[in-house]
Amino acid sequence: MENSQILQSPNDYRQYQYLTLENGLAVLLVHQADSEKSAAALTVNVGHFDDPAEREGLAHFLEHMLFLGSANYPDAGEYQHFINHHGGSHNAWTGTEHSSFFFDIDTRFFAEALARFADMFSQPLFNSEYVEKERHAIEAEFSLKLKDDGRRIYQAHKESINPAHPFAKFSVGNLSTLADTEQGSLQHALQEFFTTQYSASRMTLTLVSSLSLAQQQQYVEQYFCTLPSHLPKKPPLDVPLYLQQHQAIQLNIQPHRDTQKLVVSFALPDIQPWYRYKVISFIAHILGDEGPGSLLSLLKQQDLVNQLSAGGGIDGSNYKDFTISFELTEKGLIERDRILQALFSMLAMLKAKPLPQPLFAERQKLLHWAYLYQEPATALQTATHLSVSMQHYPVHDIIFGDYRMEQPDEALYQQVLGYFNSENMRLMLIAPCVPVQQQARWYHTPYSIDKLQPDLLAQLSNAKPDPQLRLPATNPYLDGDITLLAPDKHMDNPVCIYDENALCVWYKADTEFASPKGHLFVQLSLPQSLGNCRQLAATRLWVELFLDNINQQFYAATTIGLVYNLHVQRQGISIHTSGLSANQLRLLQDLLQQMLQQDFSAHRFNELKRQLSRHWRNSSKNKPVARLFSQLSALLQPQNPEIDILADALEELDFQSFIQFHQQLLQQVHIESLMLGNWTSAQAQHLTTILKQWQTKLPDTGNRLPNPQFNIQGLGPVWLQLDVEHSDHALVIYLPAQHATPEQMALFMLANHVMSPEYFHQLRTEQQLGYLVGTGYVPINMLPGIAFYVQSPTTSCDTLYEATVMFFRAFLSDTETLSAEEFAEIKHGILAQLNERDNSLGARAKRYWLALGQQDYSFALNERIVQSMQQLTLEQFTGFLQQLLLPDYDAIFLATDSKPEHSHLRFSDPQSLKQQLKQTQIDFDTTDKVI
Ligand SMILES: [Zn+2]
Repeated sequence: MENSQILQSPNDYRQYQYLTLENGLAVLLVHQADSEKSAAALTVNVGHFDDPAEREGLAHFLEHMLFLGSANYPDAGEYQHFINHHGGSHNAWTGTEHSSFFFDIDTRFFAEALARFADMFSQPLFNSEYVEKERHAIEAEFSLKLKDDGRRIYQAHKESINPAHPFAKFSVGNLSTLADTEQGSLQHALQEFFTTQYSASRMTLTLVSSLSLAQQQQYVEQYFCTLPSHLPKKPPLDVPLYLQQHQAIQLNIQPHRDTQKLVVSFALPDIQPWYRYKVISFIAHILGDEGPGSLLSLLKQQDLVNQLSAGGGIDGSNYKDFTISFELTEKGLIERDRILQALFSMLAMLKAKPLPQPLFAERQKLLHWAYLYQEPATALQTATHLSVSMQHYPVHDIIFGDYRMEQPDEALYQQVLGYFNSENMRLMLIAPCVPVQQQARWYHTPYSIDKLQPDLLAQLSNAKPDPQLRLPATNPYLDGDITLLAPDKHMDNPVCIYDENALCVWYKADTEFASPKGHLFVQLSLPQSLGNCRQLAATRLWVELFLDNINQQFYAATTIGLVYNLHVQRQGISIHTSGLSANQLRLLQDLLQQMLQQDFSAHRFNELKRQLSRHWRNSSKNKPVARLFSQLSALLQPQNPEIDILADALEELDFQSFIQFHQQLLQQVHIESLMLGNWTSAQAQHLTTILKQWQTKLPDTGNRLPNPQFNIQGLGPVWLQLDVEHSDHALVIYLPAQHATPEQMALFMLANHVMSPEYFHQLRTEQQLGYLVGTGYVPINMLPGIAFYVQSPTTSCDTLYEATVMFFRAFLSDTETLSAEEFAEIKHGILAQLNERDNSLGARAKRYWLALGQQDYSFALNERIVQSMQQLTLEQFTGFLQQLLLPDYDAIFLATDSKPEHSHLRFSDPQSLKQQLKQTQIDFDTTDKVI
């Protein structure tokens, strides 16, 4: 069998089979015995690069249209409906040279879903009614991203390259590129594009399922052998991305958001042929280092740069941009040449030395560990990942390709370094104040292109190594032991191993993911951090300054996959570390120690205060729907003020008062901690000791703080109009529960599960009322709720409101006519989701940590929701929906427009509503009764 060649990790218990159908379709079947759902992904070597010149966006449009009906399944919403109703999800994307389509579903319905999926690629209908509707969806998708800086900068980049290269084309499409023309109809163009581009010979298909390989093979042969196969494989691109005039230039770009960045890029050829050596990522590791002696460290000392990242950039079948992106300080913005000088000194040092062998060996060791203990993935993730890998790697390396890291010979290493020269360089300076001369097409990005001065290029070419810059030191965190706990050490739930004197420690050994990793959480309840807005703002700045201060010292830990983070939470600050458990306690201990001995400088205080303030002010440029949601969350949670109020409080904070705040921060501290993963009980004892010792160094201890929340009851329904500085209309309708009980959670979850696809289908696909359309299960603290959201460039909020009410009424009457069997089938879909196990150690750790935060010490909330769901009857469900429709239900409407005329809704603004809300502690009833 062909599959014997696929290399797989010794800890990977899945079975793989590779085969090629007669029509040339390359297929990878994956048998995963414990997979709860089945998944399929199909990737095709067609993307926006293939768009006809006069119809930009056609590949993307085709991706949308394939979902909207095929010969055997002509109904436009049928595929989505089928998948959603059987516990699944689906999506697709269009990239530069590839497009990918994927779904997962309850295994019992896998065959029927595959039949529909294959039919899409075999005989799509491109129904003219939906061609017309869906081009409006593309237009809305386009206009939604008009202010997205990623897209805006991309467009300026596209206009500074060889215009004959397909990267120059506009990828998304809109009403003007996707229209009927004198040359022919859009529908005809779509059909022709499909016929001249889509072919089984350009496709790779992956299935992942608990079904046997033989069964999977039978399905694939049954459904996919009819896929047309009339086209040859596609050759790689041969037009160069940049001609000589596109090199050694600087692009000045004005962003929409207030950011300042210098992006240096070097043009490399296609790097895929060298994948086995990982030379590019190795160089990125060195240039992106943040430890002592690194490029970042030097530039930070000189106050030129705040952050740096290396190795990103666009890539494709004949090009790769290697970028080094610098986040600039005010000084860095005017002293560009000093930054370039430092970068070229670093490059000169690398070029003067042979491949740094010990450093390379460290990276090899880490990648090998990553291969041995791969992160768990859902069937859907595995399928999408592998179907893309099949397009890039030879069969034996479909899995191993990402992990293969052989030492390159010196000639190759030097050849790659050779591309890092000033003649082969382009700069992008992104800042609001840069001088510009023109506007990019489609996105109207203000930009200009200038040639770089020859003497600058010459000076950079002659840069000499700088003694202050050196290679990263040997990693001190890499010497630990990564043996796995024996499976019999596994614990079902966390156990409280210490609970005295303002310290509480929970421990759960977890062996289920056979991973050498673990998670540590430490919640510090800090009364001094949340007394008022000023303290809330100061706490967030404190965290930023702390992370900035310790970055250099702890960077080595992060390069081996140890992760640490500090979050501002409702009660204060929490620390979370994760990664290999070896040496992680040492990391936590060092972090805690650092918290006690911080010295903050006025200089960094000012810089980070400026950054944080800018970051907050920028969030007012988020999508309208996102802004309405953050307003909702601010409204209902007292210690979560609106971002503008925080930003005002931050601006008033001076260094002197910040230092006073800092000196009082660690008073009356209460500590709660959770250790979960590949940890021995001795390590859990050690954690307790570390925390106890740390506690003795604090001035005093205190109590666990409550978790207050505002309650809307009796004050609704209320319409809040908000200014979002955006021309789109947006509406969020939030319906909160009245009680935090498992029954209510089950009702709201079920309502969301069933309504979500229907609402999308009605308001977006059928009525084209907006691009962003959906519903969400939105609990605030413990109280469940459902939100409807819709954003539209053209339709006003009162129309959106009416359409939603109409939808809800129609939905209710449809639901009332369901049979008991149909209702049971719907419940089955969501029960399958609720019964899904955690799909990674990280998801599990977060779930338990959240439960502890909610004082749910039985850890049985999910089971109780499942029980409630099982017992739920159709009558109860329709009764619940009727209640939500009552005119006096306490709903909150957040809208960009004023309230609909003749409506019974009360009108208010967020501030006055907030003053009326009573602060209540909504207690979740944690008794373990069976419902
Ligand atoms: Zn799209």
